[in-house]
Amino acid sequence: MARSRIPRSRHVGVTLSQSLFEALREREARTGETLDHIVQDALVQALGLDHHTLFQVSTAGALVQGVYQGCVTVGALKTHGDFGLGTYDGLDGEGLMLDGKVYQALPDGSVVEPADSATAPFWVTTTFRPDRRERLAAVDGWDDLCAQLDALRISPNLFAAIRIDGLFELLRYRVACKAPPGTDLVTATSHQAEFTARAFRGTLLGFWSPGYSRALSIPGYHLHVLSDDRETGGHLLGVRGSGLRVQVMHVDGLVVALPETPEFLAADLTGDPAAALRQAEQGGATGE
Ligand SMILES: [Zn+2]
Repeated sequence: MARSRIPRSRHVGVTLSQSLFEALREREARTGETLDHIVQDALVQALGLDHHTLFQVSTAGALVQGVYQGCVTVGALKTHGDFGLGTYDGLDGEGLMLDGKVYQALPDGSVVEPADSATAPFWVTTTFRPDRRERLAAVDGWDDLCAQLDALRISPNLFAAIRIDGLFELLRYRVACKAPPGTDLVTATSHQAEFTARAFRGTLLGFWSPGYSRALSIPGYHLHVLSDDRETGGHLLGVRGSGLRVQVMHVDGLVVALPETPEFLAADLTGDPAAALRQAEQGGATGE
């Protein structure tokens, strides 16, 4: 949690006991961290403000294998962040979390707010506090969007949370359809519902994950879309637009909660899910 990412700084003077002061100095000498960094890190944790961390449920590898049994409730997800995406029990549509509210995009393209008791087999969430705000003059396709977002990230080795708002000239998105347990992700998403929308006012939200995280995460950009009127949404496949507002949060922490469902405990997760993920997540992308 680098100090430089906190936009404004305040100077605070506090009185410490001698033993606490010595412990701080000892840590400083041992690790080379600055005093400011140690104190700030401790305060962030104590006050529950650890917003540069992702909280993830299950793994991308498990999703690829068809481990779709819900293991965490929507109510519990809301305690871990206000922003994110995932899917629901049985791969029942696409999950979105924006400004603290949770949504479910259904195979007909409509969006509902699921009950707090609904469950998810896979989810990624964070408390979204952007480090960077920019405007994208023009975006001409998925590849162009990825290239422009690349330039806004600080490292290929950190995760990032991304939010893009505006009026999109064109969006293509899909919604996964409910699949029987054990149906692998490529098969399950091969008969998904796809939608094309023009003059779409809404938000793209999601994450960028480094390639090295591919057993756990979906590498590269993974964005979901939600309309401003909260009537439609899904998993983004193609995009065109101009004058878009983008916000990026750098992420340097990852907490993964592993399911204890019978499906997860018995799954063979030794393979490399990268190729299957590419096909399932962006199989329909045409660079539009
Ligand atoms: Zn998705």
